[in-house]
Amino acid sequence: MSIAHQKRISILGATGSIGQSTLDLIGRNRNKFKVVALTAHSKVEELAAAAIAFSAELAVIGDEARLDELTRRLEGTGVEAAAGETALIEAAQRPADIVMAAIVGAAGLKPTLAAVRCGTTIALANKECLVCAGDLMTKEVQACGATLLPVDSEHNAIYQVFDFEQSKAVDRLILTASGGPFLGRAKNSLAGVTPAQAVAHPNWDMGAKISVDSATMMNKGLEVIEAYHLFPVDKDKIDVLVHPQSVIHSMVEYQDGSVLAQLGSPDMRTPIAYSLAWPERMEAPVQKLSLAEIGSLTFEEPDYEAFRCLALAKEALFAGGAAPAILNAANEVAVEAFLGGQVGFLDIGALVEETLAKCDMKAPQSLTNVFEIDGEARRMATSLLPAFRK
Ligand code: NDP
Ligand code: MG
Repeated sequence: MSIAHQKRISILGATGSIGQSTLDLIGRNRNKFKVVALTAHSKVEELAAAAIAFSAELAVIGDEARLDELTRRLEGTGVEAAAGETALIEAAQRPADIVMAAIVGAAGLKPTLAAVRCGTTIALANKECLVCAGDLMTKEVQACGATLLPVDSEHNAIYQVFDFEQSKAVDRLILTASGGPFLGRAKNSLAGVTPAQAVAHPNWDMGAKISVDSATMMNKGLEVIEAYHLFPVDKDKIDVLVHPQSVIHSMVEYQDGSVLAQLGSPDMRTPIAYSLAWPERMEAPVQKLSLAEIGSLTFEEPDYEAFRCLALAKEALFAGGAAPAILNAANEVAVEAFLGGQVGFLDIGALVEETLAKCDMKAPQSLTNVFEIDGEARRMATSLLPAFRK
């Protein structure tokens, strides 16, 4: 492939789990891609190494205190160095054919929106931005002619089998869930679980925040909200089905009884490769699925009592307004406190529930509103933390 046909790609969150898997695929297909901008928050050494290895045009570190170190590490390499929020937005706006949005949390919202406003193709891994600003984001996507390609494995699966021309014929989206490391455990047995146990996911290797979200099943709740914004279906047409093997990544049920599914080994490089190559396909170095070896696939209903966060997220979707943004912000505060050893595992759901009860639910009218709601919910959740402290 000639240089003129290389896809220009930027990765927001290049040092994370999704960012590194994306770079792994690019590294195996160097002739197909030209790296434009790479960003990170604090891992300056990893960022500089990736920027040099992939001859990026620009490397941006979110934490401004680390700019000197980044500049020093990139001296003489030809890679531009920058830092801070404005620079992250500039990285997202650099002309590119595809922007991988893989920053974790609501922190990804501004840079992702900046890329959307350039009308480019966004490979969207960051689910939190659709959860807290879904309506506003999808409006911007339409207005700016951008394309959102879902990277989250469930949504990527649905995207591959959803007939957008006949969306009225869709009866149900069925989001599969592994159930996380605590599947089958009763609620009262979960009080003492540790962060190390919570991040040890049985099937997927992911960043710490999403791993805890998987353990509480908040992740599946966030994904229900994400699915609502990505696909034209009613809120009550999105179901969750526990499928511990994580082989069927999700399904679409049509009115004639057909259920279409996408299957594959649980490796994020498949949905990432799909997004990078879209509308074509490319090789991914993943283990090919051997159903005979797996033998059987099992399914069960989720336990909404043990995994209260899943129920809370569904309630927030139906409540609408500010509820999903509040849920997300409170969850980010709670997960950080849990990872820091300040609160227990079950306190995550309890803190989210109490924050939701105490915050104003008025729907955001603008992005500024979203940030106000997010900030207010974070302050509220933080002020409630001492009551939960261990
Ligand atoms: P990681 O924690 O592994 O990586 C997060 C990335 O975002 C890192 O590059 C990190 O930089 C950067 N970052 C963190 N905070 C900020 C901030 N405040 N400002 C700018 N950049 C920041 O996360 P994952 O890769 O696991 O997940 C990324 C997103 O993709 C999440 O929204 C997650 O829900 C979603 N996702 C992930 C999946 C997975 O398999 N990992 C699957 C499906 C969805 P640094 O390293 O310097 O801290
Ligand atoms: Mg997922």
